[in-house]
Amino acid sequence: NYRCRSAFKLLEIDDRYGLLKPGFSVIDCGAAPGAWSQVAAQRINSVGTDPGSLVGFLVGVDLLRIPPLDGAHFLSNCDLTDSATQTELRYLLPDGVADVILSDMAPNASGFREMDHEKLIAMCLCVVDFAEKVLRSEGALVCKYWDGSKAGQLQNRLANIFREVKVVKPKSSRKESSELFFVARYFKKQ
Ligand code: SAM
Repeated sequence: NYRCRSAFKLLEIDDRYGLLKPGFSVIDCGAAPGAWSQVAAQRINSVGTDPGSLVGFLVGVDLLRIPPLDGAHFLSNCDLTDSATQTELRYLLPDGVADVILSDMAPNASGFREMDHEKLIAMCLCVVDFAEKVLRSEGALVCKYWDGSKAGQLQNRLANIFREVKVVKPKSSRKESSELFFVARYFKKQ
């Protein structure tokens, strides 16, 4: 009953790294149609379904409309790379701070592999800039990218501000796709 099969990628990543904990504040970038948000809402207990655990906070953002979901605040038709959107996200978050930032964002693929790759890396770098402003010390970031010549640049940037950066190819990600994920943990807040 997930809105999209992409849920299994986040489930796999989170089962391995245990990033999403009850009570956490999470930002889901590129959240439509909402499958990652379904997984996150469950794991951070943002609906309060588990009365014995802390209640988390989830906010998702997408250029498209995101159908409502219990336990999630959504900013539909908003561009994460836009500073007004980033300001609104910070305003919504309790204390203006996130424990985890997820990004499954992707541009519409043109079919020109190198061009699509560069476009997505630029978007990821924008997410990293945003993470530097809102992530708590020791927080984590998951970001999807398409592999290619500029991936090293993104990895270096992450390695400068996180104590651990892993490359993950979930089993549920199609083998023929160049899609990979950086899982960056232990943010070194300045
Ligand atoms: N994780 C989602 C889920 O499980 O339901 C699927 C995300 S889908 C692969 C990628 C999404 O990124 C698209 O819905 C797209 O509209 C969104 N996106 C692309 N560029 C964006 C931007 N600049 N700001 C916000 N969302 C963006």
